[in-house]
Amino acid sequence: MKTYALATCLILIGLTACTQSTTKSTKINQNSQTMRFNKLTPEEESVIVYKHTERPFTGKYDNYTEEGTYVCKRCDAPLYQSADKFASECGWPSFDDEIAGAIKRIPDADGMRTEIVCANCGGHLGHVFNGERFTPKNTRHCVNSISLNFIPASTEMATSDTAIFAGGCFWGVEYYMQKAPGVVSTEVGYIGGKGKNPTYREVSSHTTGYAEAVRVVFDPAKTTFEDIAKLFFEIHDPTQMDRQGPDVGNQYRSAIFYLNTEQKNTAEKLVRILDSKGYKVVTQIVPATKFWKAEEYHQDYYEKEHGTPYCHVYEQKF
Ligand SMILES: [Zn+2]
Repeated sequence: MKTYALATCLILIGLTACTQSTTKSTKINQNSQTMRFNKLTPEEESVIVYKHTERPFTGKYDNYTEEGTYVCKRCDAPLYQSADKFASECGWPSFDDEIAGAIKRIPDADGMRTEIVCANCGGHLGHVFNGERFTPKNTRHCVNSISLNFIPASTEMATSDTAIFAGGCFWGVEYYMQKAPGVVSTEVGYIGGKGKNPTYREVSSHTTGYAEAVRVVFDPAKTTFEDIAKLFFEIHDPTQMDRQGPDVGNQYRSAIFYLNTEQKNTAEKLVRILDSKGYKVVTQIVPATKFWKAEEYHQDYYEKEHGTPYCHVYEQKF
C-alpha cells in the first residue's frame, strides 16, 4: 500500500463513469464465451458485464490495505498487486500499475476516457487516467471494488494445488488453462523424458521422450482437479496418438501426469466417461516426474504474440 499526498481528485470524471455503455460484447468476450466463468450476482453483472459504476466510497476494497493480489471477480485472473495500490480518496480502489498483461485498455464509449477491462475475460473494471500526479508513475487505475476479489498474501501459497497436463503444443494448452476460473498460474515445460535440462530443440528432435506440458497451479477453494482435467480433455483431441492436429511426434502426446492417487482416480474416471460417450481416448495417465520449465519465450506465448491457438479449440465433451 502506497500513501502519497492527495492531489486534487478528479472525482467528477470518476462519477461520469456511470455512462451506460451496453456494448458488452468485446472481441475478448466473444473469444471467451466458451470458457467457464464464476456466476455473478445482478449487482456484479451490472458493473462487470454492463459497465455501470458502483457508487464511490461504497466498495469493499476502497480503503483496504491488506497485502495480497486482486483478481478478476468473473474469471479469477490476477490483475493488481496490493503494493501498487494507493490512497487516492476518489472513492474507488486506485492502482498505479497492473500485473503485466492483465489489463486491456479500450476507448470508452464516451469518446474521452480509456476503459480498462480484464484482458482474460473482457470484464469491465473501470477507467485508467494519466497525468494526475498522484504517484511517480502518474497513472491511476480507477477500479470498481465489485469487479475484484482479493487473495491475501498469507494464503496464496497455502491454498494452491498443482496439476500437469500434456496435450499437444504447450502454447495452446496454456492459453486455455490460464483462462480457467480458479487457476492461479501456469507454466509450460517438459516432462516424462530422459536427461536433464531438456531444450526445445532436443525435445523436438524426438530423442528425449519428453512431452510438451503445462503445469497448472490452482486454488482448490475455487476449482477442482476434476474441473481442470475436464477442461483439458475439452481443449484437445484425446483420441489422437502422438500428435495433435498438424503437430506430429511423441512430444505432442496426450497425457495426465498425476501428482497423487486422487488425481489418478479422477483422470481414470473421466476417461471412462469419455469412452462411454464413444471417444477412443489414448491419453496416458502416468505418475509425474520432474517438470522442467521451458525457455522463457515459450511462456505465455499467445498472450505475448496477441494470437490464438492454431491447434487447440474448445469442444464441450462432458
Ligand atoms: Zn476476468
